[in-house]
Amino acid sequence: MKEACGVFAVYAPGRVVSHLTFDGLYALQHRGQESAGMAVSDGSLVTVLKDMGLVASVFDERKLSGLSGHLAIGHTRYSTHGKSDWMNAQPIYLSSPMIPGGFAMAHNGNLTNTEELADRAGMLPGIGLADSGVVAELILQHHVVDPTLSSVDLTPTLSKVLPWVEGAYSLVFLDANRVYGIRDPNGFRPLCIGRLGPEEAPEGWVFASESPALDVVGATYVREVAPGELVTADADGLHSIQLLPAAVERLCIFEFVYFARPDSILHGKEIHGTRRRMGELLAAQSPVKADLVMGVPDSGVPAAEGFARASGIPYGQGLVKNRYIGRTFIAPDQTSRANGVRRKLNPLRENIAGKRLVVVDDSIVRGTTTKAIVQMLRDSGAAEVHLRISSPPFKWPCYYGIDTPNRDELLAANSTIEEIRQFLGADSIGYISLANLRLAVGKTDEGLCDACLTGTYPVPVKLRGADAVATSDVTATKVPTLLAQGAE
Ligand code: AMP
Repeated sequence: MKEACGVFAVYAPGRVVSHLTFDGLYALQHRGQESAGMAVSDGSLVTVLKDMGLVASVFDERKLSGLSGHLAIGHTRYSTHGKSDWMNAQPIYLSSPMIPGGFAMAHNGNLTNTEELADRAGMLPGIGLADSGVVAELILQHHVVDPTLSSVDLTPTLSKVLPWVEGAYSLVFLDANRVYGIRDPNGFRPLCIGRLGPEEAPEGWVFASESPALDVVGATYVREVAPGELVTADADGLHSIQLLPAAVERLCIFEFVYFARPDSILHGKEIHGTRRRMGELLAAQSPVKADLVMGVPDSGVPAAEGFARASGIPYGQGLVKNRYIGRTFIAPDQTSRANGVRRKLNPLRENIAGKRLVVVDDSIVRGTTTKAIVQMLRDSGAAEVHLRISSPPFKWPCYYGIDTPNRDELLAANSTIEEIRQFLGADSIGYISLANLRLAVGKTDEGLCDACLTGTYPVPVKLRGADAVATSDVTATKVPTLLAQGAE
C-alpha cells in the first residue's frame, strides 16, 4: 500500500529557496518515496528538476545551486494514478505564449473523474497520463488572460477549471512571480501555511502538506488552508480567497492513524497526542492481562504508550527498527514483502522471552507484515501475543489519494475477526472502534473521511471499465452492487 504525496511551496525573496525546498521535501519524504522534484522561479525563468528516487538522491549541492530564484514548489511522489515513471514525476511544468514563463504544479491526492477531465481536454484515452497531468493540461488550454494585469495570474483560470475537478487534491502551483496553494472543497488531504520572519514584518511564506516541513525551514505555523480556499504569495504578501464553495470537511482519518508524522499539527493538535489517546481508549475498550506493552515501530509506538499508560502494564521496546530502511518497504511480491519485515525489524529477545505481550500497531492492511511480526515474537519466546490495533478493520479501497490494494487483498474485507486472529497467529486481537477513533481525533460526527473503514465514499468515484462508481449515500453493503454494475 502506498501513501499520499507531499507538496511544498515557498515565496521568500533573499533566501536560497532551492535549499529551503530541499529541506521541506526531506521532511515530507515519508509521504512519497518514488520520485522527487522542484520548480524554481527567479521572476522570469522557471527551472524544473525532478527524478525518480528519494529527495537526497535526486538533489545534491551542485544541482541545488543551479536552481536560483526566490520562489519554488516541490513534490515527493507515490503514485496513486498513472505509472511510476519519470514522465509522471512532479512538479509538472507547462508553458504557452499565453503564459509567459509557464507554470508548474504539484498534487497530493487522487481525482475521481479523470476520464471525464481527459475527454474535456481532448486527450487520448489510455496513454497512461496521471490525473495531475490532465488538470495541468486543462489549465493550459483554458488559461484566462486578464488584460488589466501586467503579469500572469492563474487565479481566474483556477476558478474556471477547478470546479470541473472532482476528488481529492491539495495542489501547489508556481508561475514566474507567485506561488499558490489550494485544497479541494472537502479538504481530503492536508495543507498548511507558515510564515518566515516576524509577524509584523513577514519575510516570506511557505505552504506544506505537513507542519514539520515548516519547522525545518524556520517558518512559523500559521494555520491550515481551508477546504476550497486558494492562498497565494507574491511580492505583495499573502492573499486568500474562497475559490470554491466549501463542502463538509473530509480530512482523511488515516492521516491521523498512520500517514502524518507524529510531530505534525492537524486540526490544531499534534498527532502524537491523538495517537496516544487512541491507545488509551483501546486499552479501556479491549483490556488484557499482560506483562509488557510494545509498539510496532514507528507507527504503533504512540498508541502503545497510551495503552500502557491507561492499562498500567509497563511499556517496553520489543522490536528494533533498522533506521536506514524507509517506513514503507517497497517490495514487488508477498514473499519479498514478508522477508522485508526481517530486514526492517529485529526482536529484542530479553524483553520478549517468556512474556505475555500486548503488541500495538496502527493498522492491518494485507496482514503480511503483522503475521511476520507475530511469528518473529513467538520465535523469540513470547508466551502470549495480544494484538491491539489503533484503527478499525481496513475494509475498503481508498480513491482519494492512497494507493490501497483492491478488496481481495484487504484482509479485513474478506475475514471475520476470529479468522484474522487465526491467520495472524495471535492469542487475541482487538481493534479500536470507529467511535473511539473519532473521539481520539476529536471529530465525533463529521469532518473526516473514513471510507476505507466504512465503505461510505463522500465523493462519487467515476472510473470507467471494470472499476467502481460509488456515491455519497453508498453504504458498505451497496458498494459491491455498484462495483458489479461497473461505471458509465
Ligand atoms: P500488513 O500487516 O502487511 O497489513 O501491514 C501493516 C503495517 O502496514 C502496519 O504496521 C502499518 O503501519 C503499515 N501501513 C499502514 N498503511 C500503510 C501504507 N499506506 N503504506 C505502507 N505501510 C502502511
